Amino acid sequence: MKAFRFLLKFLLATLLSTGAWAQSLPPIRVGDQPGFARVVLDLPKEATYTIEPLGAALRVTLPNQQVEPGIHFVSQPELAGYVLEQHENKAVLILLTPQGVTPRSGYRTMTLAALEGDGQRLVIDLSGAYVDTSPLPGFPGFRFAKASGRRFSVVVDAGHGGPDPGAVGPVAEKTVNLEVALRVRRWLQEAGVEVTLTRESDTALAADKRTDLTQRVALAEGKHLFVSIHANATVPARADGWCGLEVYYFGPPSARPFFPPPAPLTPTPPVAIAPSPLDALSSPAPAGILDPGAQGLEDNEPIPAQNLPTPTPQMNSLRRMELSRTLATRVLSYMLGATAAVNRGVRSSDYFVIRYTSVPAILVEMGYLSHPLEGQNLRNPHYLDRISYGLARGVLEYLENDHPLE
Ligand SMILES: [Zn+2]
Repeated sequence: MKAFRFLLKFLLATLLSTGAWAQSLPPIRVGDQPGFARVVLDLPKEATYTIEPLGAALRVTLPNQQVEPGIHFVSQPELAGYVLEQHENKAVLILLTPQGVTPRSGYRTMTLAALEGDGQRLVIDLSGAYVDTSPLPGFPGFRFAKASGRRFSVVVDAGHGGPDPGAVGPVAEKTVNLEVALRVRRWLQEAGVEVTLTRESDTALAADKRTDLTQRVALAEGKHLFVSIHANATVPARADGWCGLEVYYFGPPSARPFFPPPAPLTPTPPVAIAPSPLDALSSPAPAGILDPGAQGLEDNEPIPAQNLPTPTPQMNSLRRMELSRTLATRVLSYMLGATAAVNRGVRSSDYFVIRYTSVPAILVEMGYLSHPLEGQNLRNPHYLDRISYGLARGVLEYLENDHPLE
């Protein structure tokens, strides 16, 4: 009798732990919100869960729960679809996240009381614009080691200004560009770099756009490098989905973007970055961002060659292109490390300011003002601190490790 009771207890425990007696969970609910996808799971009150970001997917494990296994297509920018699996003693939900998820970015969760009954709702919001907006911890200042004793000089260009607002979102692009340029100047000056800003207030360098751009470019003469700071915007049809960082250098229009990994911000000895085609495979690239024609509504559109001023004598153009590409890689890596933002890659283009500079030059796009969430990030001073730190750190690492000693 005792043995029988024990057996009964054992069977009961087994059944409960396998969830064989549990009812299947109600279907998962998916909503399409401006700038994010919302996934809602209706769970019993006592249910527990674990959530693991896996890069291109978010795994939700639900011990002792039952689901109807299957594959579901969603096709939102932030959620391609989801897979439900039933394991022996747990259910698993895998959310396929084209914009990527990391422990620092890509998703937010909350639990709420059920709308009816005493259960709970697990709410998972997915968006590439969920980034690290926490206050920047105090990193030790950068010290040149290999390049010690050298005085570097850099031009930081806050794009647009005055009558030209640039892209418009919750804040005008010209304003964000200047906020970041001023922060970048401070970081670089603290490291002993001489910084020239193309503008220090809300002004244009000239009434005529071409003259304005030509004057910005001319400031780079005799300096070590040129960084142009911009924020992006896209057409309304894509505004809900496009977000993230991209850095341009002047290069062949056919060059495919590549996706350097985020660089750690801890003051470890610098490690040389050797961009390789494998970089493009090692980093999740959301469908659609490899589109070489992908451009925003920027006014830094290429300007036809016949309208150009006579180019100034340049560093060997192939060498300048290689150095610009390396600089772009450094800067994007450190910006990604600082922000955990979506990686839209190092790209080539023939924007005026990076084409006609005589020194290594890049154009940084800090994100999309047209995105409902990223536009708000670009108003957040903590986020601008992170963007600026990453940008300055990338420039310093480039000067330390890559810039040729003349
Ligand atoms: Zn711009």
